[in-house]
Amino acid sequence: MRHRIAVIGAGPAGLTFARVLHRHGHPVTVLERDPAPDARPPGGTLDLHEKMGQLALDKAGLLAGFQALSRPEGQAMRILDTDGTVLRDWRPRPDERANPEIDRGQLRDLLLGPLDVRWGREVTEVTPGTRDGALVRFADGRRETFDLVVGADGAWSRVRPAVSSATPHYTGITAVETSLDDVDTRHPALARLIGDGAVAVYGVNRGLVAQRNSGGHVKVYAQFRAPLDWHTDPDRHMGLNTGMGASLDLTDAEAVRSALMALFDGWAAPVLDLLRHGTAFFHRPLHVLPVSHTWAHVPGVTLLGDAAHLMPPLGVGANLAMLEGAELAEAVAAAPGPGDLDEAVRAFEERMQARAGGWAGMTAAGLERLVSPDPAQALALFDELQPS
Ligand SMILES: Cc1cc2nc3c(=O)[nH]c(=O)nc-3n(C[C@H](O)[C@H](O)[C@H](O)COP(=O)(O)OP(=O)(O)OC[C@H]3O[C@@H](n4cnc5c(N)ncnc54)[C@H](O)[C@@H]3O)c2cc1C
Repeated sequence: MRHRIAVIGAGPAGLTFARVLHRHGHPVTVLERDPAPDARPPGGTLDLHEKMGQLALDKAGLLAGFQALSRPEGQAMRILDTDGTVLRDWRPRPDERANPEIDRGQLRDLLLGPLDVRWGREVTEVTPGTRDGALVRFADGRRETFDLVVGADGAWSRVRPAVSSATPHYTGITAVETSLDDVDTRHPALARLIGDGAVAVYGVNRGLVAQRNSGGHVKVYAQFRAPLDWHTDPDRHMGLNTGMGASLDLTDAEAVRSALMALFDGWAAPVLDLLRHGTAFFHRPLHVLPVSHTWAHVPGVTLLGDAAHLMPPLGVGANLAMLEGAELAEAVAAAPGPGDLDEAVRAFEERMQARAGGWAGMTAAGLERLVSPDPAQALALFDELQPS
């Protein structure tokens, strides 16, 4: 018997789930809010771990495709002191394949392959347990029912309320993202500073990280401890002296640049150039779900990825999301009848929640050390995590 399966969200979790089901010959409906795959910038580079993201791609039959696209040299990592002194300069061996980087857009296209995603389908609510299955309501008023609805719709999931009352809370740490284009030709000194992978600089309660993507594109993240509304009065909230007045317009690139330059004042000039040459700035306060987020199993609905366990961005979220997508797809494909489907999902949830809880605890502790009153903590964390 073919179960009617829908996955909400065409991010790493949803697409991996759909692609592995597709490989098993099982039909799946992918419903995505974005009107088209390239409707918004796909975001920065991802490192996919051998036993997580890469394993998931292997289950989808896409490992060779990933290896052809990924950048093993992108695993390089340099840590600087705020005065520009190089504290660590780690480069992977040429055969190192533990965590190669891939652009999100390339990963999305690789996963999309033959999938028939329904774009522009924004889900507003899911009601489990109706006579015909789990009912999905859309923003345009349409409705559809399925035997299983998989919520892979990210941090602000509209599926989550069907199984849990948990909502994300602010970590106390905000990131502002900017980017540089054609770095090798337009900013060769910065290209050398960043190298093949990433450069990170940690100061008291703040950090700057720049990551190379393909094609000379670089993403820069300024991270700092701040109240959520810091921009309503940056001088007062952040102890600055910019004289910029009461409120910072987050859509005004020059104003945001000035505020960040003041916040990172005194750091080495080449490091500050990462902000000086940044183009647009995007405000990204970091939110998380409670560590070890669990829920009592609800027949007909489940969650994957950030919808299930939003955690700080320390290189794990997409990996877990993909692994879970692949594992749930295998479990669903192996479940012949309706009772089997429900049991398969229940067993998957138990495994997923236990594993994700461990990672959520580790990444929460990691974020506290990366953006910390004692910058030596960030260096110690790097030494603990980096392969020797
Ligand atoms: C700055 C930053 C850097 C990161 N770096 C890494 C890294 O190096 N490695 C790593 O493993 N992780 C990283 N992460 C974490 C990673 O991005 C997420 O964990 C991952 O994207 C989660 O995948 P997902 O599919 O669960 O959710 P998402 O990627 O958020 O995808 C959700 C999808 O659902 C769609 N959607 C949302 N709402 C609806 C709706 N109502 N109806 C229909 N569709 C909807 C969205 O448009 C989106 O396409 C990083 C995160 C950040 C913020």
